[in-house]
Amino acid sequence: MGVHHGHILRILRDEGPQSRADLSRRSKLSATTLTHVTAALLRDGSILEGDTSLPNGVVGRPAQAVKLAPDARSVAGVHIGAGNVQVAITDLLARPKATAAFAFDTEAADPDEIVGQVSRTVTELAAEVQVETSRLLGVGIGVPGPVDPARRTALASINVGWRNVPLADKLEDALRLPTTVEHNVSAMALAESHYGIGKNVPALLYIYLRTGLGAGLMVDGAPFRPGGHGAVELGHIQIVAEGKRCACGNVGCLETFVCERALMDAAGLKGAAPDNLLARVEQNTAAWDVVVRHLTTALASAVNILSPDLIVFGGHLGDAPQSLFERLERDLPLRIMPHMRDILSIRRATFGAQSGAIGGAAVALDQFFYSGALH
Ligand SMILES: [Zn+2]
Repeated sequence: MGVHHGHILRILRDEGPQSRADLSRRSKLSATTLTHVTAALLRDGSILEGDTSLPNGVVGRPAQAVKLAPDARSVAGVHIGAGNVQVAITDLLARPKATAAFAFDTEAADPDEIVGQVSRTVTELAAEVQVETSRLLGVGIGVPGPVDPARRTALASINVGWRNVPLADKLEDALRLPTTVEHNVSAMALAESHYGIGKNVPALLYIYLRTGLGAGLMVDGAPFRPGGHGAVELGHIQIVAEGKRCACGNVGCLETFVCERALMDAAGLKGAAPDNLLARVEQNTAAWDVVVRHLTTALASAVNILSPDLIVFGGHLGDAPQSLFERLERDLPLRIMPHMRDILSIRRATFGAQSGAIGGAAVALDQFFYSGALH
């Protein structure tokens, strides 16, 4: 039965309020099954009825519509980056109700300490929005690097120095809430696909530039995770045969040119990376040209292999100067398959600085609500 509940909730999330007749048609469930499912969802408050706000353009006497009740429940989303953690409590449409962030030292990143601080932060934020922590549906955590197929363990977070950390078990022990771990850029891609700029986009490639360059791919609304691991390693496409040694062991990877450290050097900056990092690099014309050329080469390979309809830029790429988009619009079509030239678009991420935590929330929502796992 749970699967049907999730299916109905997803339709209401993605297509808005509608009559039971429309729901039956879209879900291909019998009227009897649908009646049982909607009755259970009404009882637990996940959906509401009696609202006649049918979609625009529908005329005649409105049938009694049912719709999602986005405020009915909440989830916690967590993003673990290199040296910082973001936490958000969101509603059922991944809209933040409260957010917080804290920093940690990547040289001494003890998972137990970080889990303890995440747990305290979730509890504080839940109190702030007057939700009992035990009433949260669950927690989604985005981590740098790949995760195990069961999505409970961070397998290799190079920038944080973690290997095989069972984060879901640790946080479940601390918070007593069901928890899922996801590769952090896949989580951001999931959020854009269901709640942001990527709704109804068949294939979405999210590219996130911070300390490193990560990517996540969504296909038909689900993360693409070959081998179960979730990461698309765009940053480790080799750009030059003779180049700097990369953290992955290879030489000349895209990430040796397009990562915070290389870009800070190119811009002649020290200290913490500014939000307008790419605009600062652009002022050094020669360095900027190298960055744009190598990024274009890697994007062309990614487009030719993955055929994304939409590429979403997050992190520093989300804050990139408009000139980057103009250069890509000029140079990329020449290097991709002709049929992709009309299909592909490149956009900035919807959720800006909150992308990571909203990504975590999207993971929790998918796992514990829209899958019907709670029903
Ligand atoms: Zn590499």
